[in-house]
Amino acid sequence: MDTLHLAQQPRPLPSGFLAALQARFGERCATGQAVREHHGRDESPYRPMLPDAVVFAQSVEDVVWVARHCHAHGIALIPYGAGSSLEGHVLAVQGGVSLDLSGMNQILAVHAEDSTVTVQAGVTRKQLNEALRDTGLFFPIDPGADASLGGMSATRASGTNAVRYGTMRENVMSLKVVLADGRVIETANRARKSSAGYDLTRLFVGSEGTLGIIAEVTVRLYPQPEAVSAAICNFADLDSAVQSVIQIIQMGIPVARVEFMDSGAVRATNRYSHLSLRESPLLLFEFHGSPAGVREQAELVQLITHEHGGQDFEWAERPEDRSRLWTARHNAYFAGLQLRPGCRSSTTDVCVPISRLAECVGETARELDQASFPYTIVGHVGDGNFHVLMLLDPDNPDEWAESERLNQRLVQRAIDMDGTCTGEHGIGLHKQAFMRAEHGDDALDVMRALKAALDPGDILNPGKMLPPPTA
Ligand SMILES: Cc1cc2nc3c(=O)[nH]c(=O)nc-3n(C[C@H](O)[C@H](O)[C@H](O)COP(=O)(O)OP(=O)(O)OC[C@H]3O[C@@H](n4cnc5c(N)ncnc54)[C@H](O)[C@@H]3O)c2cc1C
Repeated sequence: MDTLHLAQQPRPLPSGFLAALQARFGERCATGQAVREHHGRDESPYRPMLPDAVVFAQSVEDVVWVARHCHAHGIALIPYGAGSSLEGHVLAVQGGVSLDLSGMNQILAVHAEDSTVTVQAGVTRKQLNEALRDTGLFFPIDPGADASLGGMSATRASGTNAVRYGTMRENVMSLKVVLADGRVIETANRARKSSAGYDLTRLFVGSEGTLGIIAEVTVRLYPQPEAVSAAICNFADLDSAVQSVIQIIQMGIPVARVEFMDSGAVRATNRYSHLSLRESPLLLFEFHGSPAGVREQAELVQLITHEHGGQDFEWAERPEDRSRLWTARHNAYFAGLQLRPGCRSSTTDVCVPISRLAECVGETARELDQASFPYTIVGHVGDGNFHVLMLLDPDNPDEWAESERLNQRLVQRAIDMDGTCTGEHGIGLHKQAFMRAEHGDDALDVMRALKAALDPGDILNPGKMLPPPTA
């Protein structure tokens, strides 16, 4: 664990700063150890770094007030949604204020006729879908955790449905953003398309709290599909499974979800979710559409998987069976952790063009087979995106060092294949070292210029995403 222990570099707080926060927010400004610890850690392998205070915002006015005060005094300000990010995103590298937006959880306007909804940033994806249940619409983006829409926008999140419905990049229509100095902007309107000026929405989507604080989010919605069915198919080896996916995507079959689990991930899921799936590489599919359309997609997929040696193609048409399978898939992270009690996972997240997927997963698995720790692989393979969960002993620095070496090799492999160091989890602290290899110096300079223009005092989530110019 020591390999991922970074030294905190807190900025000095001017006298009276905390007192002013407490006077404005009362109990909604917390300085106790437990609350600060909760907000100074995430699911990454880093040791926590605590903010000096946590403020629980309830309105845009609260956010503006905190931004203005932090801006005036040069204090670090870290937006915080549900804290489910995986790469050290919310750690308070320079101390300061963690601004928790989970209390901004109002659904502001459902425009069913336009298939859009506007929510406050703290609304979570499950809360949103619960509220939409009777409208005939749904919001498809589903990271494994019940993340907030603000956090999902800030990390450009996706999940199992992205192969059909896209990621946050495609689905955020507009944002209300509080800038570092407290000014408030709307990045767009609700028109389906616009050619008016720079695309500020896409600038803030994926900015990881470093350019502005997202206060409200307008996203696209989709009709709840008339018919849904799920299927599972086993394979003798990983390559045949991935080759099937490549063919399915290249043929343009509009699968809603296609997820890969290696045999280790299936074993972990069986134990954790009390299932009895065959413990070999597996693909899990979901089809959305009309009853006839769903049947046609599934039949084509069955044919393709069969050509690649897929066995035991099984249907799960009853909602409760489908829900059990997908809940199990969403719990694959926690299931993996149970394979080695007391372990922590270092979770990788590369994404490559689909034509290179089999090669990338195959080389990675061959290398991991030599590792001194257990691992599982799961993937949103329809997008060319997969994760390795490296299950590490938190007290064994050699394991951490080995996992970092393997991750570096994996990322380099993905970048060499014209892929990316992160398909959906983002950069945070852990992936900064790969930004230059992926983007090059000139593109990084453009990003630094944008950061300097929008946040000249470097108060917003400082120390994240952009590596220092010398790194
Ligand atoms: C078990 C598990 C499974 C996961 N599966 C997936 C997956 O399939 N796909 C995927 O994409 N991710 C996945 N994740 C990662 C995580 O859920 C996403 O990164 C999610 O988008 C983070 O949202 P959050 O609300 O938890 O944000 P936080 O963790 O609170 O914050 C994340 C980043 O966004 C910034 N931020 C948060 N709110 C705001 C705001 N309102 N304005 C500006 N910046 C803000 C923070 O400063 C931070 O940099 C998974 C995580 C876990 C633990």
